[in-house]
Amino acid sequence: PLRRAQRIANIEVSEILRIGARAAQLKREGRDVIVLGAGEPDFDTPDNVKAAAVRAIEAGDTKYTLLDGTLALKQAIVGKFKRENGLTFGVDQITVGAGAKQVLHNALMATLDDGDEVIVVTPYWTSYADMITLAGGVTVQVAGREENGFLLDPADLEAAITPRTRWLMLNSPSNPSGAAYDEARLRAIAQVLLRHPHVWLLSDDIYEHLIYDGFEFKTMAQIEPRLADRTLTVNGLSKAYAMTGWRLGYAGGPRELIAAMAVVQSQSTSNPCSISQAAAIEALNGPQDVLEERRASFLRRRDLVVDALNATDGIRCRRPEGAFYTFASCAGVLGKTTPDGKVLETDADFCAYLLNSHDVAVVPGGIFGLAPYFRISYATSEAQLKTAMTRIAAAVQALR
Ligand code: PLP
Repeated sequence: PLRRAQRIANIEVSEILRIGARAAQLKREGRDVIVLGAGEPDFDTPDNVKAAAVRAIEAGDTKYTLLDGTLALKQAIVGKFKRENGLTFGVDQITVGAGAKQVLHNALMATLDDGDEVIVVTPYWTSYADMITLAGGVTVQVAGREENGFLLDPADLEAAITPRTRWLMLNSPSNPSGAAYDEARLRAIAQVLLRHPHVWLLSDDIYEHLIYDGFEFKTMAQIEPRLADRTLTVNGLSKAYAMTGWRLGYAGGPRELIAAMAVVQSQSTSNPCSISQAAAIEALNGPQDVLEERRASFLRRRDLVVDALNATDGIRCRRPEGAFYTFASCAGVLGKTTPDGKVLETDADFCAYLLNSHDVAVVPGGIFGLAPYFRISYATSEAQLKTAMTRIAAAVQALR
């Protein structure tokens, strides 16, 4: 039998992927399952971006590129940070990887020694904890309580920092809560970080463009330049431009960190796909109208889902500022009994009941570090969402 390495002893393939696999299995058995699990826009990659990729193939842009991104793409990213975030970077402060995920992985691998601590805010994207473990680090969870809008309280941050803290990971708007940090909240967090110069900030801005109700997106390096020399601002093409399969993410930060991350990438994957890089230049420099159209569509879907959930007895859902997720409490249905006699004890029980009895796949909050909640990804058609909401209401009504 295979002896797995210790470093992956406590890590599994993501639970979200497993729920997706279970849903796919039920579909193969002929069930009409609606999957609200995946963190992936249902839209297609914009045509201008696809055309740029075709041109790249035809022009022979099919070879190794510079290790952490072509110069042309790095220049496009410099332009993006300047234009959209007011951040000034040189091209040597930019790194490009196979998705924001690889960029985050590179940063953690390049900086963490065994036992170093990384602070994450619950509910957090599940991969954070596993990536930290893989890099030898220790995840320190700080509660983003619902009454606090699922956001980090600066006093809780202060209390969580130790001499071994290396990073604070912030994700705004957040997967899974959709919560976003406004300027005032970021300033309050910055005050704490300024008192602790050994703590660096990883700002995961991948949902930047999915923001609603006039909320103004800000990122830490922009509002607190004194933190810029220890902030890595991470972003990517997957969510904004519906390019999940192209695997393209990037970051801007201090030169010494960018250089250290290049070492990790150099001995793992080398450069990200040359064709995806060419496409990314077009995505960043080309027309941006598609962002606004899709945002408007996500906004309608958010309201459809939040309103339907709040109209269901026992479910309570905060209206999130951004991303394409809702994170609703199912505390009001725990302790109830399903028609086939099972008592719902946890959010995972509730989600399993929804999937097995009512053909809707959602993700339990526990895996994001905060229970009892469940996450819905509303990146699917309004028709599907309406059907799913009707099913969830029927499922809850059938409980005793
Ligand atoms: N960060 C967050 C919070 C995410 O939800 C995701 C994707 O689900 C990523 C980063 C990684 O995206 P990608 O690797 O596709 O760029």
